[in-house]
Amino acid sequence: MTQINNLNDIVNNGLCIGCGLCQSIAGKDSIDISMSTKGRLEPKEIKKISSEKFNTILNVCPGVIVEGLPKEKIDTKAKHDLVWGYYLSLCYAWSTDNKIRFESSTGGLLNGLSLYLLESKKVKFVLHTVTDPEKPMRSISKLSYNKEELLNSNSCSRYGPASPLDKFHEALNLNQPFVFVGKPCDISAIRQLSKIDKRVNELCKYLLTLVCGGFAEFTKSQDFIESFKVKEDELSIFRYRGFGNPGKMYIKTKVGREHDREYNSFWGEESTWRVPFRCKICPDAIGDSSDIAALDTWRGGSPKGEDEGFNAAMVRTKKGLDLLNQAVKEGYIKLGDELKINDIDDFQPHQVNKKKAVYARHEGMRKKDIPTISTNGLRIKELYDLNSKEFNLKEEEGISSRIKKI
Ligand SMILES: Cc1cc2nc3c(=O)[nH]c(=O)nc-3n(C[C@H](O)[C@H](O)[C@H](O)COP(=O)(O)OP(=O)(O)OC[C@H]3O[C@@H](n4cnc5c(N)ncnc54)[C@H](O)[C@@H]3O)c2cc1C
Ligand code: SF4
Ligand code: SF4
Repeated sequence: MTQINNLNDIVNNGLCIGCGLCQSIAGKDSIDISMSTKGRLEPKEIKKISSEKFNTILNVCPGVIVEGLPKEKIDTKAKHDLVWGYYLSLCYAWSTDNKIRFESSTGGLLNGLSLYLLESKKVKFVLHTVTDPEKPMRSISKLSYNKEELLNSNSCSRYGPASPLDKFHEALNLNQPFVFVGKPCDISAIRQLSKIDKRVNELCKYLLTLVCGGFAEFTKSQDFIESFKVKEDELSIFRYRGFGNPGKMYIKTKVGREHDREYNSFWGEESTWRVPFRCKICPDAIGDSSDIAALDTWRGGSPKGEDEGFNAAMVRTKKGLDLLNQAVKEGYIKLGDELKINDIDDFQPHQVNKKKAVYARHEGMRKKDIPTISTNGLRIKELYDLNSKEFNLKEEEGISSRIKKI
């Protein structure tokens, strides 16, 4: 199979998700990350990276390797599901703070937990993803030290490209406890890094994630504003959702013009999502290796209207369970009814389908001599073996036809 010999091989084979960890490892003087014409954040080597640094990148990059929950984090009481992995608790949950609940993506579970961690002084800061204040259609990573910093930056679902890990070493170098909140691919990169940098487990105390259907390339947002004849430099606010659940896709210009669109009409059919190739072959979009994964709870997978915001919490580790229980006890998070795996399947049919399909997609790549992601502990081969031959063949052939468009 074609080997990965440099950064370009990761990017050009459609394996890069733009997480920014390679830049964090090698430094901004060696790797630049910029928006490609396809609307993805892509790293580029601008100064030769040493082979030692490149080997480190190969061991952590989520385009190269993704693994499940580390064995030592699996609790003896954890239940296990072939699609959804390990979990200690499954229930509805949301922030008790009405403003957080309203303004956040679903019910503000992730922001609510982040706030609890800050105010209980269990962490010094939150490393998360927010709106770029200069260019609100773009997203940036941020270290937030208090409630105002955490919540006044539209830290809710940023469906466009982002590099949540570009400041990860900056965060480690501060030598202070912190929580990371990001996508499952970001979490798996951090778990890999923890194997070679012991500061990760010492300082990055919690790994919180969202169940992730993939991000939309920047061109989708560009088309959205252009449909209202608005240019990027005219924007003062750009929201994908929030201010309700799901809330509307919303923009406001510097001179006060406002436009919005219903969540369902922006996302519509899955084929119009414009997610990058890496998301289509994602072996873990459900936060297998996180402490807690938060998700939407719309029956059938899409919203029927607005509601107050009800997350589901999929608690994977003992650390995650203790955190959730403490945040409930201290009045930051409200728990609703317990949920069953059948409910989660119903909320996330696209995730169930992807987890079953992804190994066949990797097979399709291998057959075309395209490097794919090395995986372990994610159950994708077991699921593949349970699929019908027709299903697997369709997925293999489907991905082969997409390879040309990487
Ligand atoms: C790319 C993407 C795909 C998604 N796909 C699904 C899906 O398939 N199923 C589903 O149930 N929900 C999906 N969501 C929505 C999100 O998972 C839910 O809303 C979840 O329940 C969290 O809700 P919350 O109210 O707790 O989040 P909030 O309290 O609003 O917190 C959101 C957190 O996510 C972080 N974040 C936002 N955007 C990014 C980003 N691009 N990269 C890294 N971190 C980010 C923020 O920093 C913040 O900490 C997706 C979100 C994103 C950004
Ligand atoms: S580490 Fe992240 S940004 Fe760098 S090549 Fe891998 S996926 Fe892309
Ligand atoms: S689908 Fe997977 S690769 Fe794509 S953004 Fe989500 S977790 Fe990352």
